[in-house]
Amino acid sequence: MMNDEIHGEVYLVGGGPGDPGLLTCRGRQLLEEADIIIYDRLIETSLLNHAGEECELIYAGKKPGAHSLTQEEINQLMVDKASAGKKVVRLKGGDPFLFGRGGEEAAYLEVRGIAFQVVPGITSALSVPAYAGIPATMRKKASSAAVITGHEDPDKEESSHSWRHLARGPDTLIFLMGVGNLPRIKKRLIKEGLEPETPAAIIERGTRPGQKTIYSRLKEVDSYVEDDKVSPPAVIVIGEVAGEGEKLSWFKRRPLRGLRILNTRPAHQARRLTRRLQKAGAVVREAPAISIVPPRDFSELDDSLADIDDYDWIVFTSQNGVASFFRRLQKLGIDIRQLAGVKLAAIGSRTADKLEEKKLTVDFTPEEFVAEEVLSGLRKRTNPDDKLLLPRTPRARSLLVEGLREDGLWVDEVTAYRTEAAELPEDVIEDIDDGSYDLVTFTSSSTVTCLCHQLESEGAEFASQGAAIGPITAETARDKGLEVAVTAEEYTCRGLYQAVLAEFGRGVSANA
Ligand code: SAH
Repeated sequence: MMNDEIHGEVYLVGGGPGDPGLLTCRGRQLLEEADIIIYDRLIETSLLNHAGEECELIYAGKKPGAHSLTQEEINQLMVDKASAGKKVVRLKGGDPFLFGRGGEEAAYLEVRGIAFQVVPGITSALSVPAYAGIPATMRKKASSAAVITGHEDPDKEESSHSWRHLARGPDTLIFLMGVGNLPRIKKRLIKEGLEPETPAAIIERGTRPGQKTIYSRLKEVDSYVEDDKVSPPAVIVIGEVAGEGEKLSWFKRRPLRGLRILNTRPAHQARRLTRRLQKAGAVVREAPAISIVPPRDFSELDDSLADIDDYDWIVFTSQNGVASFFRRLQKLGIDIRQLAGVKLAAIGSRTADKLEEKKLTVDFTPEEFVAEEVLSGLRKRTNPDDKLLLPRTPRARSLLVEGLREDGLWVDEVTAYRTEAAELPEDVIEDIDDGSYDLVTFTSSSTVTCLCHQLESEGAEFASQGAAIGPITAETARDKGLEVAVTAEEYTCRGLYQAVLAEFGRGVSANA
């Protein structure tokens, strides 16, 4: 009986070429479930963040000078761990069955009766050119492509490549591991009859933030290696399609390409902002500076909830406000129908979504979340003796509340949730200290104060710039001595994203 609870199993998983988004769903699932991950040098290290807390991580790469495992040791390790009942992920760059020794490792496991599965990955051979705008095949330009190791010295008598066939056969030649031998590869291909004017491209660190592409011709492609303008890992493409890259190079057109951003939003809310920034090419690390927790004392909120039908409006300023308010309502056993006569305002589209998920109709959502618009919208809809309830965090200061009170409206601000400092990982603190981030996002004043508090207690500097969701958050940051490069005009994540784009968005660069 095969049962992977008892017998271990090995998963030969392809981790893709570098961009963390190019890991397969199945690969990610296995990383989450693994007892042990044995990983190679070229894998994107952030993939290891998918590993569970208990998972053992073993580096098997072969970096010059550093300690590494021999192939025999890796093989034996997989067998030992799987025999001990462990779920072993053997994580490789790109696809495991393309120049990754995946085939050899599978054969080793097979002979020893160890169960294994192969999870293909996105190979650098196709994806790296794709990120440089180079299709492997294209109508009228290339109808065949070959993937070749450049590791073999073409001058070797016993070379296993048929250079003659390579020079005259496939339309597109894609070399991996070819940087070191490029001058000899070029010479040999020309000698065997490949046209020296054939377009060629070298793509270094493809799909990664520092991706660099050189578009050239076969006759001079090696000069860039001699001048140290490229270094491994790189994919070399030779063929008509290489000439398409400059036209189709979408990667270098992304406006925030390479911008390094730390997103300090609470974990459950960070994702949307991160995705927006990533799509524009930014390299985003998520590390929440705060977490959302219940209030220490519910009495304020409970008093308001007890007389909820006394209010004319409830103004929700965040998703957290909605979630905490309804959680408490339910806990106190108050029937939602008590809200029948109360109007609901939602600030921010996500806040409105949260109410609509509860099948409630929102009476007012400002088009844009800027203080004036919210204020004028509410002014139009309220009567002078209306009573408003704002369930929110205790620390928040608000232009909105100040404005409403100036109008003479009755505004009850009650604590519905609190924010608490979340511990930032050590490497993030180091990265902030040594200026590894171009920007740090602040989506509330409490993200600023919690982050500063931690930096202070670790003796670290804020060697970056802030991107604030609104003027109050920006002010808090400046009061703490932080430089603020971006302040959103619309106080939402969309507004923050747009402000980052306006300040840091770039046109096409020659070297991306
Ligand atoms: N199994 C891997 C290839 C392993 S061989 C795959 O399917 O992608 C290692 C070679 O892959 C490197 O020498 C380089 O030629 C290429 N390579 C891998 N990742 C790369 C990247 N991000 N950018 C450029 N080349 C890369």
